[in-house]
Amino acid sequence: MKADVIIIGAGVIGTACAYYLSRRGIRVLVLERSHLCAGATGATAAIISVGGTSGTPEPLRPFNMESHRLIENLEQDFEKPMEMIRGGSLFVALNEQEVQEIRSYYEHARLMGIDGKLLDGSEARRLEPLLSPCVAAAFYNPVSYHVNPFRLCAGYLDAAAQRCGKVEYGVEVQDIIVQKGRIDRVVTNRGDFHAEWVVAAAGAWTPQLFKSVDIAVPIVPARGQAILTEACDRLTNLSLSFSNHVYLRQTESGNFYLGSQTEFAGFEDRITFEKMAAFTDVPARAVPILGRLRAIRFFAGFRPISGDELPIIGPIPGCPKIIIASGHGKTGMRYSASTGKAVSELIADGTTELSIEAFQLKRFQKNKQK
Ligand SMILES: Cc1cc2nc3c(=O)[nH]c(=O)nc-3n(C[C@H](O)[C@H](O)[C@H](O)COP(=O)(O)OP(=O)(O)OC[C@H]3O[C@@H](n4cnc5c(N)ncnc54)[C@H](O)[C@@H]3O)c2cc1C
Repeated sequence: MKADVIIIGAGVIGTACAYYLSRRGIRVLVLERSHLCAGATGATAAIISVGGTSGTPEPLRPFNMESHRLIENLEQDFEKPMEMIRGGSLFVALNEQEVQEIRSYYEHARLMGIDGKLLDGSEARRLEPLLSPCVAAAFYNPVSYHVNPFRLCAGYLDAAAQRCGKVEYGVEVQDIIVQKGRIDRVVTNRGDFHAEWVVAAAGAWTPQLFKSVDIAVPIVPARGQAILTEACDRLTNLSLSFSNHVYLRQTESGNFYLGSQTEFAGFEDRITFEKMAAFTDVPARAVPILGRLRAIRFFAGFRPISGDELPIIGPIPGCPKIIIASGHGKTGMRYSASTGKAVSELIADGTTELSIEAFQLKRFQKNKQK
């Protein structure tokens, strides 16, 4: 297949771009060096909410709303369900300081039009009987669901393949060669590939794609760690969040996923007891059932965090047909659909109806260009 667009990376962002481009009849080829969801997407909690916790920066709010709406309706176009569980989110407070924190989440969500609820401890336990008496209060955000990230990405790719999309695994992009502002070739361990456009969606590894093109892409890896328990009966549809960005959800198969921690430790993927202990303590006190379940998997993932924690979506200086779609940080699952839609419109129409001005690479003044 001759591709119009090469997408580098089969995480949630690359696969979403493939899906929305293929919907426009644009032939896409996804090159992934490893396997589907090999990066941050394979480690994510995959909680997709509007509002969230510490405040969605203003430029991301419409992007957040649009993506939420789009993902919610994707299954109409997917052959297999993405194991979406619609229960809303509960932000749990154990002490007075955390009660203040959840009040601010509540206010923030209100700004985004979310009709949430502040609950005292007993109301929280009525809504979520798994909670122990040590829970003092909670904020309920109804506009939130969680999905199986592997199913979401497979859905994006399968639906792209039904149209004009293809993926090749085991292909590592080593360089992108640009001549006179146009893409000459994409150099890989399996030889050269050619396309008019390239979408760089390699997550935390995106800066490494630009060896010959002399631009600085300010994205660094922020390690997150997670634990999966053995499966048990379905106990909750809510996702639960605790202080210090620790979150818990029960997957469709019945396993509990507990994840958190943001560490700037390069690409070091060791699981550390120190961090595990730090993030398991509070959930274990608040949700006693956790203490009775065996942990069966421990893993880490690297969130792609940009210099100002906003994503980078748009062309690179000097070569408008290389589009970066990365840097989504701690909330990339939320923004996959709006990112894919924006990228597809940029390529198909030369412009997008979504507001992405704040996400341009040029905002980082230090970028150099050859
Ligand atoms: C513990 C944890 C919990 C999280 N929870 C949430 C949450 O609840 N909600 C939310 O919205 N977000 C969450 N996130 C963040 C979210 O998961 C990420 O923002 C998102 O997955 C990033 O997707 P991506 O496609 O940009 O990158 P990735 O998923 O990292 O994908 C990049 C892909 O590119 C491939 N690649 C890299 N270099 C090359 C190359 N040279 N050639 C070919 N392929 C290459 C990699 O193998 C990888 O598959 C969480 C993240 C973590 C780690």
